[in-house]
Amino acid sequence: MTDIALPTVAVVATGGTIAMTIDPVTHAPVPALSGADLVAAAPGLDMLARIAVTEFSNIPSAEMGPDLWPSLTRTIEGLLADPGIAGVVVLHGTDTLDTTAYFLDLTLRSDKPVVVIGAQRNASDPDSDGARNLLGAVRQILTPGAASLGVTVTLNHAINAAREVRKTHTHNVETFHSGETGYLGTIDEDRVVLRRAPLRRQTLPLPERLATVAIVAMYAGADGGQIRHAAESGVDGIVVAALGMGNVNAALLAAIESAIAGGVSVIVATKLENGRALPVYGFPGGGSTLKAAGAVFADDLTPDKARVLALLALPVTRDRDALQAYFDR
Ligand code: GLU
Repeated sequence: MTDIALPTVAVVATGGTIAMTIDPVTHAPVPALSGADLVAAAPGLDMLARIAVTEFSNIPSAEMGPDLWPSLTRTIEGLLADPGIAGVVVLHGTDTLDTTAYFLDLTLRSDKPVVVIGAQRNASDPDSDGARNLLGAVRQILTPGAASLGVTVTLNHAINAAREVRKTHTHNVETFHSGETGYLGTIDEDRVVLRRAPLRRQTLPLPERLATVAIVAMYAGADGGQIRHAAESGVDGIVVAALGMGNVNAALLAAIESAIAGGVSVIVATKLENGRALPVYGFPGGGSTLKAAGAVFADDLTPDKARVLALLALPVTRDRDALQAYFDR
C-alpha cells in the first residue's frame, strides 16, 4: 500500500526502448508499454514515492524533435509549478535523449530536479535496465541537494549534466558519458552521491516559433552542395559538423561564405568527442577563415546540441557576436 505521506514525483512518458517489447510477429522491439505500465512494474517504487504519470507520447526517439519539444517543456513546467511535485522523471528513447535533455535544460525555469532516463534493453529483455534507471531517477530527485543542477541524464548509476552528456555506445547499458568533464555524481547502493554542479548553464525564452536549422557534415571530398541546398531551402541557420578544431575544405568554405552572404547564420561544431571548436587554422576552410567569413563557433557542443541552442538563440538575435556569446556561456 502506498503511504499517503510519501513525496510525489511526476513521470512523463515519451516512449523509447524503455517502453518497447518484442513484437511476436516481427520479433523486433516496438512501442508497447505506457508510463503507468512501467511505473507499476518497477519493484519497490511505491515505497519511495507516489508517482503521478503523464502519458506525453509513445514514440521512438527518432520522432522526437522541434515539433514536440516546446510542448514537452510546457508539460514539465506545468508539473513543476505544482508545489506537491518534488521533481520530474522523463522517460525517453536513448538515441536522441541527450538532445531533448539539453532542450529542456535550456528552456525550463524551475529549480526542481528533472531527470531524463531511458533503457538500452527493452522491457521483454530479462535483463532490462528500465526499472533500475527509473528507481535511480526517483532516488536522485528525493536526495537533498538535487535541486538547481539543471536537467540531468541519469542511467546506469551515472548522473550527467544535460549540456555535457552524449550517447557513446550502440547497445551497452554503460552508454551515457560526459567526456572529459565527468559525471555530476552517482546513484550508489546506499545513497545518491552528488559531487559537483554544472557551471555552464543558461536559460533562453521559448519562442513562438523555433528557428529552422539544418546540420551539414564536412567529409572527405565534400563539395558544398548540401550547404547550398540548405541555404536555398530557406533555413535560418546551418550547423556545420566540422573536422578537428572546426575545419572544413575550400569548397565548403566557399559555400559557407555564400550562405552567410545570403543571410544564413552558420555555426561550426566539431565532430570530435572532446575539446572546443576554435578559429585557429588559416588554410582555406580552416577555423580562422570560417570566423573571417562570419561563422559562429559552437564551443564543445555536439552538432546536435549546437543546433538545439541555435533553434532557441536565432529567434532572439541574428547578430554574429551576440550569437557567439550564447555559445560561449
Ligand atoms: N536505443 C534506443 C533506445 O534505447 C532506440 C529507440 C529510441 O531511441 O527511441 O530507446
